[in-house]
Amino acid sequence: MKTKKMKTRLIDGKKAAAEIEKTLKQEIASFSKKPGLAVILVGDNPASLIYVTHKKKTAERIGIDAQIYHLSPVITQDALIAFIEELNQNASVHGIIVQLPLPAHINENAVLEAICPEKDVDGLHPQNLGRLFIGQPTLIPCTPLACLTLLKSVCKNLTGKTAVVVGRSRLVGKPTAQLLLNEQCTVIQAHSKTKNLKKICRTADIIVSATGHAGLIRKSYVKKGAVLIDVGIIRLADKKITGDMAFDEMIGHAKAITPVPGGVGPMTVITLMQNLVTAYYQNEKNI
Ligand code: NDP
Repeated sequence: MKTKKMKTRLIDGKKAAAEIEKTLKQEIASFSKKPGLAVILVGDNPASLIYVTHKKKTAERIGIDAQIYHLSPVITQDALIAFIEELNQNASVHGIIVQLPLPAHINENAVLEAICPEKDVDGLHPQNLGRLFIGQPTLIPCTPLACLTLLKSVCKNLTGKTAVVVGRSRLVGKPTAQLLLNEQCTVIQAHSKTKNLKKICRTADIIVSATGHAGLIRKSYVKKGAVLIDVGIIRLADKKITGDMAFDEMIGHAKAITPVPGGVGPMTVITLMQNLVTAYYQNEKNI
């Protein structure tokens, strides 16, 4: 007997981001002072250069004063931290991001900790991650928050849902699992040492995958009617961009899925701008 095909909804991150952009632009227009974003790029990683340029353009479209500080790949860790400390003191800067990855001679933790937590719009400072962990978040990492926003656009009530998060990085996997736990999901965190990923994924109502392995999550890993959030961004040999999930296989099987590109990526950038607005309120209140 043939099983009935499901109508799979495409979760359009571009469209959702455009709507938030409109609202943010209006909100920022009412501010007495222009919010400032400092973007630090160390070295010449071509992908990072594309990302920071994109962030600057989005920020400027909505009325944020965004500056890219393009620093030498041989800058010392001490000099980089001293530069961040200057930005911490600068009252016209409300948010600071350091584009990752950093060159190997620089300790990423030390640099992220140097950012004043109230200006940490990437939400990666231990204080902000700790607040997320105790269920009192202020600045939440952008990609996990983008995933949650997209998820909520198709799942009104997350309570009691089983969510499998594949990946456990500080940037995506861990904060995503914590966010979903705070939303009353039952969360399973999988990673490269997880045994029988397929069996675990098949228990999920929601799968968020952030591994960077193209097509890791196949249809056979997915329960019919599950909601799929694909964070992975992989550039294939033919230059095409793809995600962690075997997208075509999921159509007619999943309840909803984010495309790559056009899903989590655009939402991440606009979520950064939402965080900047949160940081603006925090910083202006403190002056
Ligand atoms: P990391 O490399 O830091 O983490 C990858 C995670 O995936 C690790 O926890 C790793 O496990 C796990 N993993 C790797 N292989 C497997 C496997 N075969 N089975 C199960 N788990 C596996 O990457 P990030 O978290 O920084 O990014 C993940 C992906 O998301 C990348 O493709 C990145 O480009 C993309 N990304 C997209 C963003 C967006 O805006 N859309 C933003 C940020 C990232 P272990 O810990 O055991 O090594």
